[in-house]
Amino acid sequence: MSRVVVLGAGVSGHTAAAFARRWLGKGDTVTVISPRPDYNWVPSNIWVGVGLMKPSKVVVPLAPIYERAGIEFVLAAAQSIHPEGDAQSQTPYVTAVAADGKVHKVPYEFLINATGPALRFDKTEGLGPEDGHSMSVCTPDHASLAAQSFNEEIERMRRGERRKFIVGAGHGTCTCEGAAFEYIVNLEFELRRHGVRDRADITWLTNEYELGDFGMGGMHIRHKGYVIPSSTFNGSLFAERGIDWITRAHVQKVEEDRLHYETLDGVSAEREFDFAMLLPPFSGVGLKAYGRDGADITDRLFLPSEFMRVDADYSQKPYTEWKAADWPRTYQSPAYPNIFAAGIAFAPPHQISVPRTSPNGTVITPAPPRTGQPSATIGKVVARSIVDMIGGAPAPTNEASIAEMGAACVASAGANPFTGTAASMIVYPIVPDHERYPEYGRDMDLTFGEIGLAGHWIKILLHHMFLYKARLLPGWHRIPE
Ligand SMILES: Cc1cc2nc3c(=O)[nH]c(=O)nc-3n(C[C@H](O)[C@H](O)[C@H](O)COP(=O)(O)OP(=O)(O)OC[C@H]3O[C@@H](n4cnc5c(N)ncnc54)[C@H](O)[C@@H]3O)c2cc1C
Repeated sequence: MSRVVVLGAGVSGHTAAAFARRWLGKGDTVTVISPRPDYNWVPSNIWVGVGLMKPSKVVVPLAPIYERAGIEFVLAAAQSIHPEGDAQSQTPYVTAVAADGKVHKVPYEFLINATGPALRFDKTEGLGPEDGHSMSVCTPDHASLAAQSFNEEIERMRRGERRKFIVGAGHGTCTCEGAAFEYIVNLEFELRRHGVRDRADITWLTNEYELGDFGMGGMHIRHKGYVIPSSTFNGSLFAERGIDWITRAHVQKVEEDRLHYETLDGVSAEREFDFAMLLPPFSGVGLKAYGRDGADITDRLFLPSEFMRVDADYSQKPYTEWKAADWPRTYQSPAYPNIFAAGIAFAPPHQISVPRTSPNGTVITPAPPRTGQPSATIGKVVARSIVDMIGGAPAPTNEASIAEMGAACVASAGANPFTGTAASMIVYPIVPDHERYPEYGRDMDLTFGEIGLAGHWIKILLHHMFLYKARLLPGWHRIPE
């Protein structure tokens, strides 16, 4: 009998647990440890944040799903990993703390860390909806607050007031610019729908060097027979919508009515706003690790960013020397072969976008993107490897390098069944490979983008498909990641 424990019930962890349960025998157990009772289909938080969807439409309660599927569920936040057990027993285990303070000690034979990101609002003074002055759409609760505030702005504009909106990245090292991009174009669309667009000044504020960088160093896409850089694609989308932009910016401080930022040339500036939705930078969730003797071995499992070390090349070589092959393939910990990291929880080996620092020493470079499709695929691949290792395989049997994986991204640009649009992009591979594709780093037959109403319908379809899959309803495993 084997015991597989998954930390986190998000896109990656939930996928890993569901497949592990499906593929393992009845005598084996699968346990999910997660601090929230629900699964959140994060991409649709965008629509919650502009008031188009209720938060309840983007979450599903996990307990009944796991009960039906035969997966144990521990509602608690993992705190520490003890890969060698302790003085009492050599059985590896994790500790997790529930909301009421109860500490769970959960033994494992194989462990998947899929704890996603910690939202580091604390890295910028005044950032975030809880202790600061800006909105977020990273969780359903945050998105719901954003919608409330957005509606208040609409009401004020209806009364004739002019209002200023800023959307983008709340720190020089943010990732997930794609999510903020979706939010700004949806916000603009909704302002038009409400008939108040002429009273709104909308600004995109980003840590990207050029528009459309997305932490992937930008991309060239095939569009209507032409190859165009994503900076042009995004710039024209913004120009068509009257959205102004500030690039190469690090937000230093957010006050009630203005934010202060520094740009790559070292100049400090400020911008007034009435409504700001700014994403936070990410780190790992701060799990600790201890050896058998109780010694702190956190640095054996994690990088200082708190993301987990896996089978990547983490050597500190210069940016110009990194290769696509540096990216991980199996997501196995080099220190403990029965520990894996899936989704955002694994540490990327290097920046994809060119690292840049202002004359004041401020890093202003988007971190590599951590999108949903690869996160789910990695969860599935890791589950397969573990199941095979339980069956006797000496090493992971499955691989999924982001440098060999394509990603489809459908970015909503206005949610309406008749007048809505979405930008649909396919990128192959996600991490550019300049050896295989010397011209643009990507296969131009497989990398393309389109914007139109069909994309909106696809986005709606994906919302329903992925929530159906998350509920583990009949045939769920046939729905692709
Ligand atoms: C607003 C927004 C929109 C996005 N839109 C898109 C999109 O359109 N397309 C796309 O591909 N990607 C999108 N993404 C990215 C996508 O959401 C992520 O790639 C994906 O959620 C990552 O999956 P994950 O499992 O690694 O992390 P998550 O989905 O964040 O899951 C992490 C899980 O770990 C749990 N957890 C946290 N701490 C602990 C702990 N200590 N112990 C145990 N469990 C813990 C969390 O509660 C959660 O269940 C978007 C992201 C954001 C923020």
